Amino acid sequence: MDLVFFHARVMTLDRSRPDARAVAVRDGRIFAVGDDAEVLATVSPGARRIDLTGAMILPGLTDSHGHVMSLGRRLSSLDLRGMTSAAAVADAVRSRISSGEWITGGGWDQNLWPGRRDPDHRPLTAAAPDHPVYLRRVDGHAGWANRRALERAGVGRDTPDPAGGRIVRDAAGEPTGLLIDHAMRLVERAEPKPAPAMVALWIRAGLERCAAAGLTGVHDAGVSLRQEEAYRALAREEALALRVYLMWDGTTPDPIEAMIARPTYRDAGGRLTLRAVKLMIDGALGSRGALLFDDYSDARSERGLLVTPPDEIGRRIAAATGRGYQVAIHAIGDRAIALALDACEAAWTDGGTAAAPPAGPPGPRPRIEHLQCVRLSDLPRLRRLGVIASMQPSHATSDMAWAEERVGRRRAAGLYAWRSVKDAGIPLAAGSDFPVDPESPLAGLQAAVTRSDAAGRPAGGWHPEQRLSLEEAVRAYTEGAAYAAYEEGDGGVIRPGARADLTILEEDLRTIPPERIGAVRVLATVVGGRFAFSTI
Ligand SMILES: [Zn+2]
Repeated sequence: MDLVFFHARVMTLDRSRPDARAVAVRDGRIFAVGDDAEVLATVSPGARRIDLTGAMILPGLTDSHGHVMSLGRRLSSLDLRGMTSAAAVADAVRSRISSGEWITGGGWDQNLWPGRRDPDHRPLTAAAPDHPVYLRRVDGHAGWANRRALERAGVGRDTPDPAGGRIVRDAAGEPTGLLIDHAMRLVERAEPKPAPAMVALWIRAGLERCAAAGLTGVHDAGVSLRQEEAYRALAREEALALRVYLMWDGTTPDPIEAMIARPTYRDAGGRLTLRAVKLMIDGALGSRGALLFDDYSDARSERGLLVTPPDEIGRRIAAATGRGYQVAIHAIGDRAIALALDACEAAWTDGGTAAAPPAGPPGPRPRIEHLQCVRLSDLPRLRRLGVIASMQPSHATSDMAWAEERVGRRRAAGLYAWRSVKDAGIPLAAGSDFPVDPESPLAGLQAAVTRSDAAGRPAGGWHPEQRLSLEEAVRAYTEGAAYAAYEEGDGGVIRPGARADLTILEEDLRTIPPERIGAVRVLATVVGGRFAFSTI
């Protein structure tokens, strides 16, 4: 049955027809775009006609970097986001004591607490002395354990720091309970593994949340063998609400060989694609794990963590590319970004072992994930190597209270510098890194356009010279995301023949003050001509 939306304000992103009033859909694809009368005349008599009374239609928004299972899991575990002290977290832990053996959760951020000091095990040990407690930091790059969890994991004063990780210790050399990057694995290995049915449940819950937030697609930035199997089963059962582009988690804990031994694919329904591998060079800025050339400005003699050594990154790029996979390299600090570029350069220039030629369609299109603190002088190199910048606008507004303290004034010019990235001619794909930041693409659009938080602070924006126009920001969530997944032309645009993926909003974002974008109501999301979420 045909489906037609009319009396709408359509932002098509099709340069030959940027504005329209109506869109008609047939067999999962768009078949007409134009004025109301023009489009209504083309549809079959039995078509479902939806009068949008001035609502806005955008090409379906895609989050280019999110963690679907983590989002679903967080919905059913302890959510610590926004808590304003370690004591508040400990109270939340105490309330969970009856609910089972391990108490796990995530979302804490010591930058919101008085004194902004790193937490230690004591409040958690006092709150739940007999239960292992393990809480991930909001960015997923640090874990906070109580004494029982450390005991279960066998972490003590004699445990050495693993490569790419750090066990934070007190003056006497005892682990404090804080574990950075790869040291998190020591405790995570001891945590009970979820059953496959639970994994599928979390994925479905995560995707539902995304659809309601206005997304029609997600690039899942790091799945395990088990998660990929759950996704494949969901696709077979036609139970995937959104389009999902999968990246293997090429960092931990399954060996990359077992992952890339599975061939790349797109499922018959066109909803699930497996085609990328995520690699990781450094940690995160919040936990001072981002790898910098020079010392942290707020911690002398600290320069961050090298999570995977460069020669190993090179080997993994060659292996993944040889199997037809795209590489998506997590690199946050300026030195990590430079190392990622060195590795790409070595892989795709003479003498490199990777098979594919550099840059452009249909080349390897390497992605750098986050690109948070780049040396602006490295941008021409990104452009030359055909690197896609996969960035998260909300990270800038979440981190702005402390990011500049970490790196100082000089390096701040390259913090979340998406305007500089765009001006250098580098393809930009936007996302949120949910559940690190909220999954709402509208919150992301607002952050990209204003560089101020939901409350409008600071007025005029933080480093406002890096703002994007609304259209540029929307393109990063549509056209840019499609390009990053080799789907340009098919997705990210409203044009006859393209996939019928649409985000429908109560108000036209082009006509409201930008500081209201994040609060606009999502009326519906349409994926392949079917409603993934609807209030209409
Ligand atoms: Zn991530």
